Amino acid sequence: MLVMKFGGTSVGDAQCFRGVKEIVARGVRKHAPVVVVVSAMSTVTEALLESARSAAAGNEAVVAEKLQYLRQKHLRAIEELFPGPRREQVATAVSEILAEFEKLCAGMALLRELPLRAMDAGLSVGERMSATLLAQHLDDQGIPAQAVDTATCLVTEDNFGSAPPLMKETREAMRRVLLPMTEKGTVPVVTGFLGATRGGVRTTLGRGGSDYSASIVAAALDADELWIWTDVDGVLSADPKMVGEARFLDELTYEEAAELSHMGAKVLHHKTLAPLLTRMIPVWIKNTFAPEKPGTRIGAPHAGSPLGPKAVTSLAPVSLLTLRSNGTPGTTELFARTFEALSHSQVEILMVTQASYQDSFCLLVPQSAAEKAQAALAQAFRLELSHDYLEPIEREDVAAVALIGEGMRGTPGISGRLFGALGREKVNVIAIAQGSSESNISCVVALQDRAAAVKAIHQEFIVPSAAQSV
Ligand code: ADP
Ligand code: ASP
Ligand code: MG
Repeated sequence: MLVMKFGGTSVGDAQCFRGVKEIVARGVRKHAPVVVVVSAMSTVTEALLESARSAAAGNEAVVAEKLQYLRQKHLRAIEELFPGPRREQVATAVSEILAEFEKLCAGMALLRELPLRAMDAGLSVGERMSATLLAQHLDDQGIPAQAVDTATCLVTEDNFGSAPPLMKETREAMRRVLLPMTEKGTVPVVTGFLGATRGGVRTTLGRGGSDYSASIVAAALDADELWIWTDVDGVLSADPKMVGEARFLDELTYEEAAELSHMGAKVLHHKTLAPLLTRMIPVWIKNTFAPEKPGTRIGAPHAGSPLGPKAVTSLAPVSLLTLRSNGTPGTTELFARTFEALSHSQVEILMVTQASYQDSFCLLVPQSAAEKAQAALAQAFRLELSHDYLEPIEREDVAAVALIGEGMRGTPGISGRLFGALGREKVNVIAIAQGSSESNISCVVALQDRAAAVKAIHQEFIVPSAAQSV
């Protein structure tokens, strides 16, 4: 069983759908059964988001313009892909899905509100349209295929906007829905990004979440491998949009890939690897536009796995919150109550650092969660704040930069070289963290120093040993 996921750029237009068809055909010939997971066509989720926001703000002109864009983008692809009798049928199916979104926008315009639940229902149309289009195209081209809306088989909690999957129920539902299809030789074309609660209310897994959907499908079906098709040759030693000399990495361990994605490498959604670890299902990252290239393999470490620094990544904007106490509460209590408050408000903590001689520490949270985090802490420490036992909580929007590679702690001098490289570029380091995992050295820098910091670290550790650059 092979699960293949295609990202937004892989299904950007009719030509791309044709390329995907070739890849799926080869997959079916060599590795059947195959299950496909697909994202919305590129730019679609963003356009849906903007329409919904504009509707809630009462900006009808923008809503109309975006709807027209979405309609045309899909209808143009349909016209090019289906010269025959199927065209009408596919166009009607896609128009009906888009009409649902139009209704939701009308509701938001009326309410002047953007409820998260309605937002998830609205965003779902992107993946539902692309899955319909791809399944119909494959089927039309002689590869039996059927679109599957994961509202029927990816069961989640009701945290709209970033809903955690309920794995046991999802596994049962996916096997019930997808296996009868693969058994009769049909390729299921599954919507990425989407799920639904037990009660059938639509949810999404969070932006970029189709990678995660694909790993959930792979785990549920006990697949042998997961191949993620995207617009780069694989995982590179840095984001190629930021570092021109970034070099291709032929293999990464699960831990390295998890660190990279948590610290901002968009090539892989940060929750993707967790479902695969129980059965150690390997992941390949491959280029839809250069399918003959081998891609990067992500899997368990082996005796020959290279050790040491491999890649540099960055996350921005993120928010650094500083808590400073005058001694009451002491550090341990400060930590305990901070984590409890943030856990209750479901704020993800990206990094924590503490100055040893002070009852103070800093923590890094996603910028989107900073206000929620500040409110939760202000509430948890309201007495201490009102009596000036705790200084007002400071917030600074910054960038986090990380050097990733297993086994770095065993090599003396790496941190020294890293800070030396930043110093030479006059990049001021605001906070530092080295995980006990041995595979990540992170630091916080000013937002405007992000690119310089990434380039300097990449130059220090990766470029000199590069056999091949891209
Ligand atoms: P998809 O739509 O296929 O999911 P994404 O845009 O989400 O694709 O992810 C691919 C992009 O990730 C690449 O175009 C690249 O700019 C970015 N990226 C960031 N860091 C890295 C990295 N270390 N290696 C490869 N790509 C990276
Ligand atoms: N279409 C969704 C997004 O843009 C999910 C994905 O592409 O992975 O966030
Ligand atoms: Mg992606």
